[in-house]
Amino acid sequence: MIKVAGIKRGTVIDHVTAGKGLWIFNKLNLASLGHPVVLLMNVPSERLGRKDIIKIEDYTQVDTAMLGLIDATITVNIIENEQVVAKTQVTLPQVVSGLFACGNPRCVSNSDQYVMPIFELYEAESRAYACEYCEEITKVAWK
Ligand SMILES: [Zn+2]
Repeated sequence: MIKVAGIKRGTVIDHVTAGKGLWIFNKLNLASLGHPVVLLMNVPSERLGRKDIIKIEDYTQVDTAMLGLIDATITVNIIENEQVVAKTQVTLPQVVSGLFACGNPRCVSNSDQYVMPIFELYEAESRAYACEYCEEITKVAWK
């Protein structure tokens, strides 16, 4: 197995479902972050069989709401002085702003570029969110 040194300070996005790592890398725009980033793919995992891991040095502000929408198996580890100081299991967020568009084409959040779409979780199992403005239910297809 490839050995990758741990990071001194930063974020480790662990237990990513194998194959989703690159997608998250692009969705979080990590290439343009300006910090050293490592993307490991198809790493053997006891829990998942195979998993992807993303390590970001000197950066701890990852969007856990977005990660929860993408892949609820993810664990986010915050590293300080080579030690894990915080571990977060991501979940489907209760409130989401700006990560996807309302399914109603006539919604003000789609027609006015200055209106940020805001949604509240409507039903977790179907990943359905209700729009704050028009109450349209939008199902998040990210999986
Ligand atoms: Zn709407």
